[in-house]
Amino acid sequence: MKGVLFVISGPSGVGKGTLVKAVLSKREDIKLSVSCTTRAPREGEVDGREYYFISREEFLSRIRENDFLEYDEHFGNFYGTPRSYVERQLKNNSVVLEIDVIGALNSKKLMPDAVLIMIAPPSLEELKKRLLGRGTETEETVKNRLERVQYELDQQHLYDYVIVNDDLKEAEHRLMQIIDSEIDKRK
Ligand code: ADP
Ligand code: 5GP
Repeated sequence: MKGVLFVISGPSGVGKGTLVKAVLSKREDIKLSVSCTTRAPREGEVDGREYYFISREEFLSRIRENDFLEYDEHFGNFYGTPRSYVERQLKNNSVVLEIDVIGALNSKKLMPDAVLIMIAPPSLEELKKRLLGRGTETEETVKNRLERVQYELDQQHLYDYVIVNDDLKEAEHRLMQIIDSEIDKRK
């Protein structure tokens, strides 16, 4: 295996997607694994770009076929990492998974060399502001997502790195630094 598996997690709305997009747009040697989900697409989301949007039946059948490296159910929907894509890419490239805390810890069990990176908010108030500011959530889903935050942040000690996403440019720089140093370490 030549590439490094980077697993990025953190509370919903913390800026994971923004950071990952910024870093990957500059690096052709790092591939983003697109997860499958049973949740409905948000406005502007494209099938195969943000997620593969599949039905619950298809998801369950793919679980039975062992098609997922890891999967989990949150907020009433399934989310899973396609095993074959990740394994194929790692032969030549590094891969980023943007997944929740439980999925991250499960991936580390399966792939102990994975590098776990937690993106943390500067404060809960700021997190709430970002989640609402994104304009994709109803009051109910914001409430559900915020209820999960403390649990996720409490798992920080199990991560290899924690980046506080306060200033976006600084956080982007730090993420790039971590990725470069981990790839260099294994050369
Ligand atoms: P996640 O993928 O973690 O759910 P997003 O990347 O969708 O989060 O970011 C949530 C919102 O916060 C977006 O509107 C994004 O533009 C904004 N955002 C991300 N990082 C920052 C930052 N450092 N400062 C202010 N706003 C940010
Ligand atoms: P959202 O609905 O906001 O896109 O994602 C909700 C949560 O699901 C986020 O914490 C996100 O990181 C997580 N998630 C996305 N894809 C996967 C996946 O493949 N596996 C797991 N375990 N979680 C995922």
